[in-house]
Amino acid sequence: MALNVKRPNGTQDVVPNEAYKWHTVESVVRDSAAQFGFKEIRIPTFEETGLFVRSVGDTTDVVQKEMYTVSSSGDKTYTLRPEGTAGTIRAVIENGILNEGLPQKVFYLLSCFRHEKAQKGRLREFHQFGCEMLGSASPAADAEMIALVHIIMQRLGLRNIELNLNSIGCPECRAKYREALKAYFEPHRAELCPTCQERLEKNPLRLLDCKSAEDQAIAKDAPLITDYLCEECSAHFEGLKKNLAIMGIEYTVNPRIVRGLDYYTRTVFEFISSDIGSQGTVCGGGRYDGLIETLGGKPTPALGFAMGLERILLTLESQGCEFIEEKTCDLYLASMGDKAAEKAVEIASRMREEGFFVEYDLVGRGLKAQMKYADKIKAKYVVVIGDSELESGTAKLKNMASGEQTDISLGDGLLDDFGAQYYEMMLSTDEEFRSFVESFGDGQGE
Ligand SMILES: [Zn+2]
Ligand SMILES: [Zn+2]
Repeated sequence: MALNVKRPNGTQDVVPNEAYKWHTVESVVRDSAAQFGFKEIRIPTFEETGLFVRSVGDTTDVVQKEMYTVSSSGDKTYTLRPEGTAGTIRAVIENGILNEGLPQKVFYLLSCFRHEKAQKGRLREFHQFGCEMLGSASPAADAEMIALVHIIMQRLGLRNIELNLNSIGCPECRAKYREALKAYFEPHRAELCPTCQERLEKNPLRLLDCKSAEDQAIAKDAPLITDYLCEECSAHFEGLKKNLAIMGIEYTVNPRIVRGLDYYTRTVFEFISSDIGSQGTVCGGGRYDGLIETLGGKPTPALGFAMGLERILLTLESQGCEFIEEKTCDLYLASMGDKAAEKAVEIASRMREEGFFVEYDLVGRGLKAQMKYADKIKAKYVVVIGDSELESGTAKLKNMASGEQTDISLGDGLLDDFGAQYYEMMLSTDEEFRSFVESFGDGQGE
């Protein structure tokens, strides 16, 4: 019978054999964030709709077209988070985290939901890793965030990634820039797409990242924000560049980057991959000094970034990068007959208590099929238990890689016997294990 329920458009399953790729990326981002002093925050999957309208901005595509909103009883509506920052800031304010000493540094790993046209690299449910730093206005903080992304890219082994940098100023210098943009686009009003005609009044900055080719052509000669920065914003941008130079991080100033969301001030940046075409932004972020106040907190400078994990994985795969392989079974217990099967259960439970990864037959296969299965799951060792092994209390332990066989006790000596074999095998095959052992001198404890 065919399954008549299918995975929703724009969603993905991560099948068990692919999960190790996600684990690789997740462990790199977690460990790197921890090194910079970031701690994890976990927030609800949905929030009151007003949170996103106020923070992301009511003129953005995200809020106007892409949110999954449901109404509950009463007049409240809730929305599945379209990004991670708004909910994180809400939680930081609500839990009084800003009173615990500044700066506060938090990271999140979560899924986001946007009702977008499904296409390659654009999903309706997608996953993000993001960091937020709250309470520092210094350009050193901006450089620190970029440095964190930079080291993550390096550790993942991503190539052909370019850092694009811009400052979009403070509300003061942006007001002047807004006027200049309006004056520039006004003569072209009739040629603009309907959305941009509307944006021209409310938020002309958004015209710069319109996806329509006609509008992009018109925007080509538009004035640049970098020519409108006030003294403080200029000094901040220079401070950031100086810190990046100290850290040896290369960048390109790209005055076309404005970021899609309304809450950004001053620094905006994108890490762009040249390997996955027009969807090439693998990480974007910037400063949002006004956001905490907008959401009802006391005025606090803040900044952050978010990284699309699906895009990172696509890029890693297209570049043939290596992932950390998942652990495989240490010992498979093959058995013949009911008594032997019971022995396998007993041995497995003893060995698991000692931390070994052990499996045995659960589907009633014959011996040959059990051996095939052990091979398929890449078991390092196999023991075959039958009547004669039960009687003698010893069995052959087979190293599946070398084919070598040794006798081991099925009684009290089992763990010592297996442990000795396992130790030898790890010494000869696992470099990390060997250098760990070598750090203790001769390693054999003799
Ligand atoms: Zn300014
Ligand atoms: Zn447009």
